Amino acid sequence: MTYASGLRCRECGHDYEIAPIYTCEWCFGPIEVVYDYDAIRAAVSREKIAAGPDSIWRYADLLPADGDVAVDLGAGFTPLVRADRLAAALGLGEVWIKNDTLNPTNSFKDRVVAVALSKALEFGFKTAACASTGNLANSVAAHAAHAGLKSYVFVPADLEAGKIVTTAVYGGNVVAVDGNYDDVNRLCAELAGAYPWAFVNVNVRPFYAEGSKTLAYEVAEQLGWETPDHVVVPMASGSLLTKIDKGFRELHKVGLLDREPEVRVSGAQALGCSPIAKAWLDGADTIKPVKPSTIAKSLAIGNPADGYFALDVVRSTGGAMAAVTDDEIVAAIQLLARTEGIFAETAGGVTVATLKRLAEAGVVRPDERTVVYITGHGLKTLDAVVPVAGPTATIPPTIEAFTAAFDVEEQ
Ligand SMILES: *Cc1c(COP(=O)(O)O)cnc(C)c1O
Ligand SMILES: [Zn+2]
Repeated sequence: MTYASGLRCRECGHDYEIAPIYTCEWCFGPIEVVYDYDAIRAAVSREKIAAGPDSIWRYADLLPADGDVAVDLGAGFTPLVRADRLAAALGLGEVWIKNDTLNPTNSFKDRVVAVALSKALEFGFKTAACASTGNLANSVAAHAAHAGLKSYVFVPADLEAGKIVTTAVYGGNVVAVDGNYDDVNRLCAELAGAYPWAFVNVNVRPFYAEGSKTLAYEVAEQLGWETPDHVVVPMASGSLLTKIDKGFRELHKVGLLDREPEVRVSGAQALGCSPIAKAWLDGADTIKPVKPSTIAKSLAIGNPADGYFALDVVRSTGGAMAAVTDDEIVAAIQLLARTEGIFAETAGGVTVATLKRLAEAGVVRPDERTVVYITGHGLKTLDAVVPVAGPTATIPPTIEAFTAAFDVEEQ
């Protein structure tokens, strides 16, 4: 069962019953799931969660889908790794990496898709669909295959070849659209009115978005039911960042945290697509849409739906934002790989490069317990590092050639 009790407009507060809807009839504002927190408080405990599955469904009581019939490929419960070598390289103290590269389709999107498709099954949909910058398509195709749903995923035609292959292999329909993500998204909003499909980021978006909260729940549980002082989060639409903030607050509301959390939330974007970070840096209240041009394609949303809410969270928690260059992204992928043995996609490079910038600026401080969200695997964006990661030397198969090439003195 679920403790979701309804839907509510985030702008005007109008209430709706649970249904596959995403904008308010009255003001066109975005719609959010509301819960019966008193009932959740009575139902949950740290022990019950610990006894649950090693996936996001251990937090089913805090999610808007029925955990008993959930679509479960094993999304979530990924490692939280203490990153002392990265911390030392950046002059920081206690840094942790939330390694979401280790999800079933190697990105954090498995969390949101598992919730969206579980809800889609409850609503009786037979087909799953989405607009995607790549990772969402991957995840929808895989979870739809697992759940026995048909799928149509729409992606920009210039997407990395690897992301098309790893989506098409699951057997759904992959539609490459001549245009950028915002064009694809507009097309999907139109198609959602014409076909009775569950578009995970259109008509079931309110449920989809809730899956991101599990990235707060897990971090708190893995830190022994404590919260970090500071988190650094990549932003595309800005949804993930706002839901991590919401997740920490909910844990306190339902009695799972002893103290009210005070988590500074900082946001990361690539300079080539940084509408939210630019508004923050300019001190502006409105977000100006941009045309994306960056190697961080999974974050390349030029007109971010939750940008305003992300700005609000970062401002109200005392966080910060940065917009980092493609060169900084590649250098940060290498830094994380070389210090911690974790290979991140370009979005992870954006996040680590932002951590570096904020550490240099004194915004992320050495006395803070900081969690960095690494949301996608490096094998998804190999092209980004091909120019900088090759053989150390190429030699003929003789010991003489090796000793000539390498001056090995130490052990
Ligand atoms: C989708 C995505 C995000 C964040 O997306 P939001 O739209 O801001 O919720 C972050 N990292 C990766 C790798 C993604 O695919
Ligand atoms: Zn409204």
